[in-house]
Amino acid sequence: METIGHWIGGKPVAGDGRVSPVYNPATGRRTAEVTLATEAEVADAVRVASAAATDWSRTSLARRAGLMFRLRELVSGHQSELAALITREHGKVRSDALGEVARGLECVEFACAIPTLLRGEYSAEASRGIDVHTVARPLGVVAGITPFNFPVMVPLWMLANAVACGNTFILKPSEKDPSASLLLAELVARAGFPEGVVNVLQGDAPAVTGLVEHPDVAAVSFVGSTPVARHIYETGTRAGKRVQALGGAKNHMVVLPDADLGAAANAAINAGYGSAGERCMAISVVVAVGSVADPLVDAIAARIPDVVIGPGDQETSMMGPLITAEHRDRVRSYVAGAAGEGATVVVDGSRPPAAVVAPAVVAPGGGDAGGFFLGCSLVDQVRPGMRVYDDEIFGPVLAVVRVDTYDEAVALVNANPYGNGVALFTRDGGAARQFQRDIQVGMVGINVAIPVPVAWHSFGGWKASLFGDSPIYGPEGIRFYTRPQVVTSRWPDPTPEAIDLGFPMNR
Ligand code: NAD
Repeated sequence: METIGHWIGGKPVAGDGRVSPVYNPATGRRTAEVTLATEAEVADAVRVASAAATDWSRTSLARRAGLMFRLRELVSGHQSELAALITREHGKVRSDALGEVARGLECVEFACAIPTLLRGEYSAEASRGIDVHTVARPLGVVAGITPFNFPVMVPLWMLANAVACGNTFILKPSEKDPSASLLLAELVARAGFPEGVVNVLQGDAPAVTGLVEHPDVAAVSFVGSTPVARHIYETGTRAGKRVQALGGAKNHMVVLPDADLGAAANAAINAGYGSAGERCMAISVVVAVGSVADPLVDAIAARIPDVVIGPGDQETSMMGPLITAEHRDRVRSYVAGAAGEGATVVVDGSRPPAAVVAPAVVAPGGGDAGGFFLGCSLVDQVRPGMRVYDDEIFGPVLAVVRVDTYDEAVALVNANPYGNGVALFTRDGGAARQFQRDIQVGMVGINVAIPVPVAWHSFGGWKASLFGDSPIYGPEGIRFYTRPQVVTSRWPDPTPEAIDLGFPMNR
């Protein structure tokens, strides 16, 4: 069986530590194993990235931009291969995987403008005979730790800006779908980036701890679940590092009575069940305001049978499997427990509907055969305090909370500990405008269910969805991966200087 290794110093490196299984979630079969970095391998990766850091930081902006353009071309030319790797190890359907690669590619395109993005500031004659300028300097070695659900896009959120800013980068991808990271690293090498500028270290918690505590790692970007994000933030900052740690989510979609019902129902289906609900910007709670509740629940339920569930590499599939059998069973337990908590299970997707599952994965008599499939679930009459509301389920389960007024909807969303994304569906511009001001969430969609910002804005939730004060990619990404250096200079001029022991004053 293939063992997926590291990429260090511009070449593949086999590991010699523990291994972890990698599955094809559509078949449930183990397809490979991935090496898990030992302490020595972590140290080696940091040593290689440190050795490359000085030269890389002095590489001209023109050259860095040129390399980024080449990387852009290579990623663009390998979208199909990257998407195939995502589908094979993550399970998401091909169109979704291609969408992920395209959004990652946008981040590389943004970083192609690095000469403009790093243009400094200059104050001529700030004081008499004194000029002041500010430059954005790289940090050194930075680490990126990424989740299973976007094995190409999230690494590119970090990698592109980190190296364009003059840092060297160590990616620690999810051990559940590690292969795409190696193809990305190979494309970086083929683009001509020097050895050691981008490295991939496979591993699990000990590798992450090793990176986060290593004295030569200057900054850590983390994307994953909230408990781990909080832990990484606390450990990293205690070790004196700059840390941005993006966590989990529970995203609400508020539907006002005047909304276009068909558009809202379609959006709930797309954003709730797309990628089997394994997106940090997935909608997991529909907040139905007033009279819209009954028709909205009916409209969502009526559309669920149209969602074709099957292997991601099959053209007709709209929703693939979940990442592991354990995760599938955990998601199923929320639906199983919902009625006991007082909610109403309108559609129970605990078993994938045999009629729409591709024959290859239907076990005799129906069910989910070896693949980690679930159907779409819709749970009505949900309230805070129920597990199905309080927890991030990260699966194809939509909860509906009914409220009487707009104010109740806003209070519900604002009381939630997460603050990643939120959407409002309405035809009322005034209500939409007020919602933007009232709502305590980092990314807001108005008649847009998944408001993931474009690459030239930045991505970041509030509250338990982001630890640290730096959102990721876009202009905030550039700020995160650099620190300002301010130079105050005076060159001899014909005016003789007198002795003056006072504090420098601006004249
Ligand atoms: P996860 O937290 O289990 O793992 C994320 C990364 O941390 C992986 O690389 C993993 O190897 C590592 N890790 C896991 N446990 C660790 C530990 N105890 N100590 C140190 N490192 C550890 O998350 P996941 O299951 O891979 O991804 C799903 C989660 O990520 C969801 O909660 C989702 O909302 C979140 N997510 C958030 C965003 C965002 O932008 N806010 C984006 C994507 C995913």
